[in-house]
Formats: sequence, C-alpha cells, structure tokens
Amino acid sequence: MTYSIKHAAVIGSGVMGSGIAAHLANAGISVTMFDRVPDSLTDKEKKQGFTLEDRQVRNRLVSESKKKLLKQKPSPITSKKSLDLIRIANLEDDLALLSEADWIVEVIVENLEAKKELFKKVDAHRREGSLVTSNTSGISVDAMIADSSEDMQEHFLGTHFFNPPRYLKLLEVIPTEKTKAEVLSFMKTFGEDVLGKGVVEAKDTPNFIANRIGTYGLLVTVQEMEKQGLSVGEVDSVTGPLIGRPKSATFRTLDVVGIDTFYHVANNVYHHVSDPKEKAIFTVPDFLKQMIEKGWIGAKSGKGFYEKKRDKSIVEINPSTLEYQERKKLKTAAVELAKQEKGLNRKMKALINQKGDKASDFIWSIIKPVLLYSADLVGEIADDVVSIDDAMKWGFGWESGPFEIWDAIGVRAAVERIQDEETAVPSWVLDMLEEGDETFYKKENGAIYFFHEDAYKQKDVNKKEISLAAIKEQKGVIKKNTGASLIDIGDDVALLEFHSRSNAIGLDIIQMVNESIEEVNKNYRGLVIGNQGKNFCVGANLAMMLMEAQDDNIFELDLVVRQFQNMAMNIKYADKPVVAAPFNMTLGGGAEVSLPAAAIQASPETYMGLVEFGVGLIPGGGGTKELYLKELRNIPEGVDIDLTKVANDVFEKVATAKVSTSAREAMENGYLNKNDRISRNPDHVLHDAKKRVLALADEGYEKPAREKIPVVGEAGYAAMVMGAKSLHYSGYASEHDLKIAEKLAYVLSGGRIKEGTEIDEQVMLDLEREAFLSLIAEPLTQQRMQHMLVKGKPLRN
Ligand code: NAD
Repeated sequence: MTYSIKHAAVIGSGVMGSGIAAHLANAGISVTMFDRVPDSLTDKEKKQGFTLEDRQVRNRLVSESKKKLLKQKPSPITSKKSLDLIRIANLEDDLALLSEADWIVEVIVENLEAKKELFKKVDAHRREGSLVTSNTSGISVDAMIADSSEDMQEHFLGTHFFNPPRYLKLLEVIPTEKTKAEVLSFMKTFGEDVLGKGVVEAKDTPNFIANRIGTYGLLVTVQEMEKQGLSVGEVDSVTGPLIGRPKSATFRTLDVVGIDTFYHVANNVYHHVSDPKEKAIFTVPDFLKQMIEKGWIGAKSGKGFYEKKRDKSIVEINPSTLEYQERKKLKTAAVELAKQEKGLNRKMKALINQKGDKASDFIWSIIKPVLLYSADLVGEIADDVVSIDDAMKWGFGWESGPFEIWDAIGVRAAVERIQDEETAVPSWVLDMLEEGDETFYKKENGAIYFFHEDAYKQKDVNKKEISLAAIKEQKGVIKKNTGASLIDIGDDVALLEFHSRSNAIGLDIIQMVNESIEEVNKNYRGLVIGNQGKNFCVGANLAMMLMEAQDDNIFELDLVVRQFQNMAMNIKYADKPVVAAPFNMTLGGGAEVSLPAAAIQASPETYMGLVEFGVGLIPGGGGTKELYLKELRNIPEGVDIDLTKVANDVFEKVATAKVSTSAREAMENGYLNKNDRISRNPDHVLHDAKKRVLALADEGYEKPAREKIPVVGEAGYAAMVMGAKSLHYSGYASEHDLKIAEKLAYVLSGGRIKEGTEIDEQVMLDLEREAFLSLIAEPLTQQRMQHMLVKGKPLRN
C-alpha cells in the first residue's frame, strides 16, 4: 500500500495543535482543525443573544485558536495564505469530516483517559487505511489504542513535534508493536521530505528521547545549583552558548517552555520509573512547585525565573526566598579560558579540565550525570547513540549530543574521573574502552561510524543532505581565498561557499565569484552559490565601506561598487547556469547575489530583503535593477504591464527595507518568481540546488540575452517622490529618509526620461552607483552604518 497525505485532521487546537495545523498548511496540506464545544457562554455571547446551539459558539475555541495564528511570534505560518488551508470544526458536530483525512493527528490535553476516549470516536469515523498519530509528550502510545480496531492499530504511531513545530527540527516517531513497517517508513520519509523535519525513531518509553534526557539534565542542573549555592543567573551564564546550548540556557528556556509544562513532563517520568535514584532526580524541587502555585510560570504569566521590571531591567528569582534580586553572572578563570578557545570541543575540554574552579566543577557536575544517563538508556529509549545525539541537537538546540560531548572531552579520561569519584559507568562503555575503542564515533575514508552494541557501524548518509565539510575533508577545494571556496560537489557541478565573517561580501568574495564563474564556464555544468553557515549572507561588508567613506575614499568606493555590479552581471550572464541557494538571513548584498542567478532554490526559512535603506543607502550592487526586472518578468504573458505599479511596488519594498519572513513570503514579495523553487527541508537545499543546475543544463541552458529595461521616467519619479513626501510631512519619514527615497525613485524611474523608454541595464547600474556613492558620503548615512555595526539595529535619523 502506498500512502499519500493531501488532507489532514488535527484534533486539539491549543499551543501545539494550532502550530502543527499551521505547519501542515505551510507545506500545502489542507487541514481540518478540531476542538471541543465550550460548555458555557461568554458574557459577550450572552449579550449578543447566542445560545450553546449556535455554530459560532460551538466553534469558538477552534476559531479563536485559528485567529491567534496570525498574531503569534515567531510566526507559525509562512504566508497568510496558509490560513486558507485550515478549516475549523468541532468534536461534536463534525466528526464525520474525519473520514476525509489521510492523516489524523491527536493533539489534545496530555491525559491518557481523554486520549483513549477521543480515539474511540476517531476509530468510528476514520477511513480505513488512514494514518492516526498522537502528539503526546510522553504517555505510552501503545496504551492509548489498546482497544482500537486492528486497522487503526496498524496505522497508528506517535508523532512528537517540538514547540514551535515550524521552527524546531525534531520529530520523534514512536511506533507500537502493531504499527505496520510501511506506515512507519512512510511517516519518516514524509516527516523529512514534506514537513522538513529531522526524524528520529524513539521507543515507547516515558517522554521518549529528547524530553527524557533533556528534563533529566534540567532537573540535575536545578538540584546542583541549589547544592552549590549558585544563582539562577549565574547558572544561565555558563549553561548557554559556552557549552553549546541555546542562548536561553537553562532557566530562560524553562520560562519560555512554561514551568507548569515542565512540571508535567518531569512528573510523567517520575510516575513511570521505578529506580529510586532516577525517581529522586525526577522529583521536582519544592520551590518550583511554589512558583507554580503562585502562578509564576514563565513568559506566559509575565514572570518565572526572571522578571522584566518596568524600567526594563531584568531580575532573577532567589529560589530560597522566592524574592527577585539583581541578575548575576558567574565569572571564573575557567570560563575565561573556555571563551578564548575556538569551537565547542575545545571549549568543553578547557572548561571541564579546570578542577577546583567553581564554574568548571559545576559544569562537570551537570554534564557527568547526563552522559551516564544517556549511556544507560541506549537500547531502552532509542536504538543507538546517533538517535540520542540527534534528538538532543534537534529538539533542545544543543550543538553536540551527549556522546559527541563525551568524545570531545575524551571518553577514557572522563570515565577515569567518574570512577575516581566512585560513580558507576555503564558496562558497555567500559567494554568499549576495554576493546581499545576510544570514541563513540569515528571517521574512516570519509564515512562516519558509531559504536553500536560491540562494534562500529556505518552511519547512514541521507543523499539529500550534502555536507560541505565532509566533501572538503575528502576532496579538498578547487580554489579558495579568505572569503570563499569553490568546491566540486560531484556530477560536474561546482559550489561556491562563502565563509567570511557573517558571510559578508568583501573584495575577496567578489574575486572568488568571478574566478569561479570562469572555472565553471570552462570545466563544469553549472554552479551553486550556497553555504552551511548560520546565514546565507548578511550583506556587503559594511565595516569596510564605512571606513572608506569616513576617509573620503570615494574613488575606492566607486571601484568597489563597480566590482560588485560586475560580479552580479557575471552571475547573470555566466555561460553555465548559476543557482543561488539562500537560507536564513539573505540581506542586502546576499539578495543582490541571488537575484541575478539563473534560478533561486531557497530554503523554506529564507529571510530575504534589500535592507540598505536602513543604513541610509540604496542597493547599489544591481539589487534595485534586478528586483524591478524580476517583478516585470513575473507578469504573465498576455497581461498588460503596468510599469508604474511595478516601479511603485519595488520602491515601497526597498524604501521600507522589507524582509520576507519565509521563502514563500519572498515569493509573494517578488524576490523569488515562478522560475524559482522552495525546498521543503532546509537540509536539502544544496542537494535540490544541484539538481536544479543539472536540470537547467540538461534543458540546454543558454545564458539570457542582454536585457533592455522599460522605465517609468519623469512622471513615475514624481509619483514616487510625492508618496515619500507625504510620509515625510506626516512624520513617518525623516528628512534623510526623504533624501534616500528621492535617490531611489530616480534610479527606478531611469532618470529624467520619457515614460516607457527602454534603457540598457548599464544605465540603471550607473544610476544605482551614483546614488549609492552620494549617499555614503552623507554624515547621516555614516551614522546609520556605524549604529548598525555597533548596535546591530537600524538608527532612525
Ligand atoms: P493546550 O492546552 O495548549 O491545548 C490542548 C487542546 O486540547 C485545547 O485546545 C483543548 O481545548 C483541547 N482539549 C482539552 N481536553 C480535551 C478533551 N478531553 N477532548 C478534546 N479536546 C480537548 O496543550 P498543548 O500544549 O497544545 O498540548 C497538546 C498535546 O501536545 C499534549 O499531549 C502535550 O503533551 C503535547 N505536547 C506539548 C508540547 C508543548 O510544548 N506545549 C510539546 C510537545 C507535545
């Protein structure tokens, strides 16, 4: 049997249900979202004369949940259009709709009886062969459907998304003994290829993988904090990025998750494990219970471990007095030493090896139990070390999983220290060392092996996940300079990787782009421009340009801008197809590199925008021209072209420095057009981009003919400026904003010429460059640039 999911039913529209419904709709799957019928009327409903029989009242819960999707931050939807795919329904009147669903996801309250009750109804109304899953955080999935029909049992499993479902990568899938193998395998592939998740198979044990180990680690941290007399802020200052964990570290994470939710998750394990030592760890400390009683449960209630005061200062709770106090940080020699080290492995080693240092001892005291606990649970909660490491990285945002950390600090050294401290080490780890196998992972001939049972096993490589680091390690690079490398990614396709600081574009990258295109024109079928850093590219090197501007080196700057423009034209007119593969922040120069490519293959999470206006400039590297052209080209054949509308549209986008909040929005905003594609899974982008290069090459790619640009001329210029002036007069735009807007309008209108005139691309590039150079010489622009460099946000002046 082959499965396919076109329509889903999501039951429960709370935090997770609505988030899952939104994420499915983002992937183009239509959803019916269900919730309960309320059992009483609100005052407002009473006043309006509604009764409990009115549809509006009966759908109130689910309807309010759907409305909230528009307001939540970060946004659960990648486009407002996702909402059109979500239909609302209630669990009394509309159960018959369940028969339409290919997949039914249960996301109601975390209570076994409630879930069992619901699944009876689901069983009665679902279509045979449809998939049914539960999003439980940790209740046994087997127990939920013990009384269900055979067909439902065979098509049932747990699908545990992490909050927020759009952004967190982990999806744990939990089969029962009855789940058909093909159902499990379909769900894994679907989760990865359609929902864009990192899928890990977990066993049906309390809290599955990530929440089991994550909660354990958090509780150990709370208990050690109390034992060692540290404060909440002190703990957070050393349990965040310093040890490869998210910035929110320990307690700010708990505030975001909700201390009440954390309590439920921890309690679930407490009630399901029998080992007294394990039970002791999962016993939630009293002060946490008291905080919950007081309603201090974190961000959703306004305060938790931290409180933001009226004057915006942040205070931390003192667990022994439950009073808020000034926030503290832990600063020790070991912390300083670790900070200076490069890379997590070295940082961890440096930190942990400083025995006797307060921070070092603390970190060891919280890491050690997690390493041992994880090793104890291999086989019980997951098949292997890889699943545990992946779950922790993808669900809790850890940079390395427990076994990777253990490898980093040295397995043998850590084991000796643990034994010196009279703590038992799981026997399989001792056996591993006994055999002379010193690490959980090892690399051989480019392949990764992990220790499994009593030998190393090769790690599966997903062909859709290209690893640039692995390719470079095996094959080296074709060319390289300080800013970028050209890499052979196979099948006669090359890839240009930026690796400058923040992937900002400077002269080194410009030079490398040009050389790469020359190389590709000669020896390859096409080029991908992409990388696997934090962001695709945050723009041109602002610091370098500001320095030149402050020194009045306008001649130098003129040269830089010309070179940038020529690079963009090289990308556009390369003999072979160039495909840009943007992801995350793709700002300013990052967008200017992508726009002229033969095609864009974007990650679903691409935040693209020409943001130069924010630093007092206009896009000068061909971005203004290309965005305008892209929008013109997207007008369907046969439809009259309204040049004024296109120019105004581009003017508005650039003048408001609008950044798209997803690739879909970038498509709606004209940064991508019908020629571009969006990958479903952020980790598949380079693979998809390479495929696109090959497809273009197979079609017999021919570089575009030199374009003529029809422009709006003087009349259009006047209209754009009028708009800007009215914003200025009503106080929404400063004098300097107006000046920049006038320059931008001049570029887009093609100068003082007649409407409809067709100009050569170089003319518009020259206008861009002139505008850019005159603006960068302005002190107010330089102030904006400086502010952005120092503070990381735009200055309004
Ligand atoms: P929530 O309280 O926000 O939403 C629960 C929804 O279920 C509500 O809309 C409620 O009206 C509905 N509901 C409650 N009782 C019901 C019943 N008896 N029958 C039908 N519907 C009922 O909860 P949530 O955080 O969205 O959690 C939902 C599920 O997802 C739980 O199983 C939870 O453990 C799991 N989960 C939560 C998170 C998280 O971070 N919140 C993460 C992963 C998994």
